[in-house]
Amino acid sequence: MSTNNNDILVEVQDLKVYFPVAVGSLIKRKIGDIKAVDGVSFSVKRGETLGLVGESGSGKTTTGNALLQLDRPTGGKIFFEGQDITGVGQKEIRKLRRRMQIIFQDPFSSLDPRMKVSDIIGEPLIIHNMAGSRSEYRDQTADLLKVVGLDPSMGDRYPHEFSGGQRQRIGVARALAVKPSFIVCDEPVSALDVSIQAQIINLLEDLQEKFNLTYLFIAHDLAVVRHISDRIAVMYLGELVEIASRMDLYHNPMHPYTRALLSAVPIANPTVESKREHIILKGEVPSPLFPPKGCHFHPRCESSLEICSKEPPQKKEIAPGHSVTCHLY
Ligand code: SF4
Repeated sequence: MSTNNNDILVEVQDLKVYFPVAVGSLIKRKIGDIKAVDGVSFSVKRGETLGLVGESGSGKTTTGNALLQLDRPTGGKIFFEGQDITGVGQKEIRKLRRRMQIIFQDPFSSLDPRMKVSDIIGEPLIIHNMAGSRSEYRDQTADLLKVVGLDPSMGDRYPHEFSGGQRQRIGVARALAVKPSFIVCDEPVSALDVSIQAQIINLLEDLQEKFNLTYLFIAHDLAVVRHISDRIAVMYLGELVEIASRMDLYHNPMHPYTRALLSAVPIANPTVESKREHIILKGEVPSPLFPPKGCHFHPRCESSLEICSKEPPQKKEIAPGHSVTCHLY
């Protein structure tokens, strides 16, 4: 089994997460499955950040949820620290949650408005029996606030008294409380102003170094993941279409979908920006209930070949660590 490699913290093999769809009010009849994630494989090395990018409906959030067993896999395998955690029971899931945490997109709705911030941060310590005495608990929550750049005296306030960026810092502190090794960052800056986004990304980078954290960083565009990711995986309609190191992906994107996503990322230099080709993606992401035959991307692809609407392309490694799923290669 490839998971013997000590460098790999998380490994996903042929992951599938399907949601059944039924019609009828009295007698339900299943008409199909939404294949939110369909045969996705990748690994995340210890201490690295893997960016996971795609438009909404690409399956990236479901992939993150499946790693944490928030959505149970329909097929495939998930390994964490070499252990097969696919389909483990509730007791095991509870134990895993100490080592795997999540930071949600929306800092407004992910914090209980009736709880004081110190209790929001401290709740995971109580759940996992790590709170210790009352004064130890107080010290731990104060330290966590400090670590994310908030004043410990703020622990007595309620979430509505904080700005969006501060609330996301609280979400980060809560995820850190139980000293996890792996954190799924599910679009953690998408709801924030651009000026605040960089602060939160810098904070996540500092914390990664300080606590040797490993991240799966989910985002819907390639601009956000550029600075934080070591490698980047691109998803489209439940499938992984390209995976490469950050350098390779930005300088040598191979999949037509990756190229279109990259062309939407603005470049600071106005001369270069004015000469760039912008690829406008045709139409919307099709319904995952009835995905197009062959390559799911073919109705929107500028480079589509005859075979593309008939046969699904296979994943190919075109350079070490750079794989693409497309008939062009
Ligand atoms: Fe485009 Fe064909 Fe490649 Fe799909 S397989 S991305 S349709 S060229």
